[in-house]
Amino acid sequence: MSKNQTINIITLGCAKNLVDSEVMLRQLQAAGFNTSHEDAANADVVIINTCGFINDAKEESVNTILHWAKARKSGDIDKLLVMGCLSQRYKDDLFKEIPEVDAFFGVNDVNAILQSLNATYREALLGERVITTPSHYAYLKISEGCDRNCSFCAIPGIRGKNISRTIESLVTETEFLAEKGVKELILIAQDLTYYGLDLYNKRMLPALLEELVKVSGIEWIRLHYAYPAGFPLELLDVMNKHSKICNYIDIPLQHINSRILKSMHRGIDEEGTRKLVQTIREKVPGIAIRTSFIVGYPGETAKEFAELRDFIRESEFERLGVFTYSHEENTPASQLDDNVRPAAKARRAEELMLIQQDISAARNKSFEGKSVQVIIDKKEDGKWIGRTQFDSPEVDNEVVITDNSGTLAPGSIVNVSITSSDIYDIIAVYPEN
Ligand code: SF4
Repeated sequence: MSKNQTINIITLGCAKNLVDSEVMLRQLQAAGFNTSHEDAANADVVIINTCGFINDAKEESVNTILHWAKARKSGDIDKLLVMGCLSQRYKDDLFKEIPEVDAFFGVNDVNAILQSLNATYREALLGERVITTPSHYAYLKISEGCDRNCSFCAIPGIRGKNISRTIESLVTETEFLAEKGVKELILIAQDLTYYGLDLYNKRMLPALLEELVKVSGIEWIRLHYAYPAGFPLELLDVMNKHSKICNYIDIPLQHINSRILKSMHRGIDEEGTRKLVQTIREKVPGIAIRTSFIVGYPGETAKEFAELRDFIRESEFERLGVFTYSHEENTPASQLDDNVRPAAKARRAEELMLIQQDISAARNKSFEGKSVQVIIDKKEDGKWIGRTQFDSPEVDNEVVITDNSGTLAPGSIVNVSITSSDIYDIIAVYPEN
């Protein structure tokens, strides 16, 4: 491998995978390689960071590998490496089936990948990354792995046990990101609210936030992947105490029916779920709750689905995602009969998203005539696209802004006036009226 070669990383899957790619890019740059992300135009080496969570994601990963295996075979690229969750989960099968790939690596193999490129891992770069998101926001992965045992989920088997990072190392990384111009810090993990239990023998997310809010330059802090069972209620007090912490929480609930929640090993039942949602709304007025549900779980009856539908209708979650159950081998649920037909799964998912469209449209309408704070992401067709504190990048709503000042730029945090809205987006002007 000569150092003037270009190495391109392709990241599939979630933001946690993206952070792994960013760490890898920083090490490769320090080793003297030219690097690129999601742009293989001039690449000599391609590294695919795969996702192996559910069927659709696995399919996308395999297709991406096959695409680049052809390029490797034809000599368009000199080396093809595969890392990440799919590779961790199916390394031996993939190795047999796609021999064009030079090497398969797991999820925590930065060192081994560097060695395969005749480079060495630099400990001194811990906490440093190449930011691949727009430079005003970045993800902070506060722990790796998961100690839970949700019946439908393959992640603990792929990513291993929960390993929390120290508060000091996370503050150092946040200072690094702030120096690079990051204003919005998005906290991620497999199970955010579990943070610290392994390292400090207690839940330390509130304590971590108390330190992160002190980092100058960071203006917004957003929380993703909270877990309902054992939810640390003191977190809500910290959210109220610091305006830097967005009035937003992502907390996948998965279902509402107690029989199904029990079968899913979620550690919480219908009553506990309802109580938690109510407490979050009471303790943090105006909070936007993002959640997600699974439909078509083994044995889900029409009546149990109806309970979920009614719960979503009455709860009016601000942001919602719906997944159809995917039968994953080596998960507890793989022992169950995947008896809900694909068409029924799809129909149930669509029914819930139609309900959510009405909820989202009504909520967006409630903003018309008001002023809200937004962060500017990008320019599209002469308009600036931004987000409120109730919207996370890539997954939530957007604000389409007419800038009458000519001063807006990516990363600007300003108040805008809402003039109209539709199901998912709101329309605004700046400066505000
Ligand atoms: S909390 Fe449950 S769903 Fe989330 S990664 Fe862990 S086992 Fe999977």
